[in-house]
Amino acid sequence: MKYRFMHLLVFNRLSFFFVFFLSNQNLTHAQYFNTPGAKIRDFEGVFRIDSIPITVSGLPLKIDSSFGLAKVCLNIDHLRTSDLKIELLSPDGTSIWLTNRNGSESGQNYMNTCFRSNGFNGYVHTGKAPFAGEFIPDGRISFLNNGQNPNGKWYLLVQDLAAGEKGVLNYFNLEFSASPNPNSGLGGCSFETPALCRLAETGSALLPDLVTLPFFTESQIKEYPQDDPNYPGHLKLAISIANLGDGPMEVFGLHEWRCADTIVDSTTICPDGKKARQILYQRIYSLSENKKLTFTDVATNSNYYDDKPGHNHYHVDDWVEFRLVKLKKRRKGKVKRGPVVSQSSKISYCLFDSGICNENDNVCRFENINYGAGSLANYGLGGYSSCQSNKQGISVGAYDTYGMMYEGQFLTIPKGTRNGDYLVEVELDPLNKVAEKNKANNLLSFPVTLRKQMP
Ligand SMILES: [Zn+2]
Repeated sequence: MKYRFMHLLVFNRLSFFFVFFLSNQNLTHAQYFNTPGAKIRDFEGVFRIDSIPITVSGLPLKIDSSFGLAKVCLNIDHLRTSDLKIELLSPDGTSIWLTNRNGSESGQNYMNTCFRSNGFNGYVHTGKAPFAGEFIPDGRISFLNNGQNPNGKWYLLVQDLAAGEKGVLNYFNLEFSASPNPNSGLGGCSFETPALCRLAETGSALLPDLVTLPFFTESQIKEYPQDDPNYPGHLKLAISIANLGDGPMEVFGLHEWRCADTIVDSTTICPDGKKARQILYQRIYSLSENKKLTFTDVATNSNYYDDKPGHNHYHVDDWVEFRLVKLKKRRKGKVKRGPVVSQSSKISYCLFDSGICNENDNVCRFENINYGAGSLANYGLGGYSSCQSNKQGISVGAYDTYGMMYEGQFLTIPKGTRNGDYLVEVELDPLNKVAEKNKANNLLSFPVTLRKQMP
């Protein structure tokens, strides 16, 4: 995908090099670039992307935290926004998610929606269609302000991932200005500035601590009856996994691909029909008393290339499992955990920072603490922008969200299941392959009442 754009870029870079010398000016105020509309095709069973270009020219040769992309605005007519995954691809090939399958099941349209790092209405995945106003995108705009040359072709990449509705992009535009990443979430501690990081209370290792944030699952869960034409007997749910530990959750591979014990190529389909797996290692950072950052690497789960619609990236295996458990009524109104009614397989996820904990909202409230920069010593340590094969992760104080409408985010309610009270359990790292500060908080469970099954 990216490579196709890359050779377009070679030509653009050359021509803009000359344009820049002709128009080199002191850019003190915002610069805007607009594009007219385009059609958004419906999903028709094959993976494809509508890519809408926008040409940027006359800007400084470098965008970073002092001048860069500050805002992206768009307007889309589409009667089911949860079908849509929308990304922004920059000239150097870096892309971020602006919004991915948001708007719950029936949300319609993006009405003059803008994305910026400190969007006043909060994260787009916590917003409601038609998303009028400014939102924080699902990815981080600061990843695009990475020192690259902004002059050239940018693309809005729109994927419709469910059949039934097509749409129209009425416009999209980019705004470049000074201080483009306000509230980009960094607390000062970074790989480059370990002197600003703090030692863990538990020893020198800066371990991650993964938890499932109740906010997302409790607000995005939906039951479907057995005769639903699209989702028969599904209990769809969102899961968002935050890292509330002392150090980043980071995994990487060394291009060691396997079918069982046989060394193979990354594209191999194994004899059992599954894709080849890459051996992964978890990188555990340590901070010494004199603030030197070192690391050790330990074997962990594998990863593989997931080519399902809306994914097309690398997933870490056995990341999470969810279960539906019957609640049994006891005397005096007490309830007790009964049998497991339905269980997902061990689901694989791609790890990246889709949002950042922030004390101004309640998204990262966990066990009565509202996490953010003030409560996490090494807030911001990490920086994982996409689901690559060789490195993925979740930064300290970031979270990785799988929305309710994503592929695979459901439990199958067996036919004949009765209405009533159940528990939903979400267990992280069910095979215990990840080193964490606290393994005791990896299970989120909350009650749910089924109403659309057998009486
Ligand atoms: Zn995925």
